[in-house]
Amino acid sequence: MTILFSLLSFSCRDQASDENSADGNFLDQHDTASSTESEPETEGSIVVFAASDVGDSTIETTVEWLEKAQSLWYTEGTFGSENDLYSPIYLILVGDEMQATIELEEEYCDHLYEHHGESVEYSRCNTNYTDPNCEHGICLFTEYVTNGGAGIASSRQNDGYHLMIMAAKNPGPNEEDYKKVVFHEAFHIYQLSQHNELDYDKAEELTGRRSGDHDENVPWWSEGTAEYMAVYHYSQQDGVDENYFEREMRNKLGYFEGESEAYVINEYLEHDTKLYNITFDDNGHLAYHIGSWLVAYLVHTHGQQKILDFYQNIHLMNFEDNFTEHFDQDHRATIDEFEDFLFQEDKALLLEILR
Ligand SMILES: [Zn+2]
Repeated sequence: MTILFSLLSFSCRDQASDENSADGNFLDQHDTASSTESEPETEGSIVVFAASDVGDSTIETTVEWLEKAQSLWYTEGTFGSENDLYSPIYLILVGDEMQATIELEEEYCDHLYEHHGESVEYSRCNTNYTDPNCEHGICLFTEYVTNGGAGIASSRQNDGYHLMIMAAKNPGPNEEDYKKVVFHEAFHIYQLSQHNELDYDKAEELTGRRSGDHDENVPWWSEGTAEYMAVYHYSQQDGVDENYFEREMRNKLGYFEGESEAYVINEYLEHDTKLYNITFDDNGHLAYHIGSWLVAYLVHTHGQQKILDFYQNIHLMNFEDNFTEHFDQDHRATIDEFEDFLFQEDKALLLEILR
């Protein structure tokens, strides 16, 4: 077999006390699929699967920012750490070339068959599984070539690993937004690592994705917290423009310098659906944007630690009780109150909670 992709692996255990030296621990940066047998899957490990058209600088940037996120959130004493749930992270890097990604899917499936023989049967890697709507490969990663973006596509409790996928566009690895997206996905891994629930529906409930007045998954809390934490913590990194945080948060509302209107708030009003009832498929972007502002609003009143404390409690109680315990009232009452804040006439006053 020819070298179809580059695979590198390393363990963060080597650098637990040194947050700044990502590069020194890279191993076998252009290794072949055959080296998968010797991969270390130790605590904190990131295992990179990159398509053959993905450059070294993309691999290095992504790992560097994922490691920064690990040191921010995957800390000792958290449930995820105590229960060894933060790792391994299979980091998939997809480029622009479809064929390279189809080959990457094949190599990745080989890895799963070798290391995760049980859970792989329930994945798209199982050759008995066919998806008539899938145009290229098995649509595990190929849709990321077409659409770009990023995501987490795993249940650590059931699969035995986190699967994090980063594409080469929307945003591309040279865009500033890419680093923030790494933080966003890394925070999803944090959220998903704070319980031992195997039942998918129960896990969705605990993490707030079933908090609407219907049975569909809703993004406002899981995405709102991930996006707020990503934007805030990215803004705190060395070399980032000091106006970054406020600018990004303004952009989420479509409230630009010199304007009096915030068009995203108008869209939310027109959609006429409570934040907790907005689904991923119907104007989901509103839940991401407005959800991140709801989190800013809660952080302003309760402090950011309460967000992390909430997640440290998800293995103990249901979403409603957990939310009320940390933010003094349930999420419906909180969102009613937050809407009064959001809909106030003078939009400039919204910015005050960011300062
Ligand atoms: Zn997300």
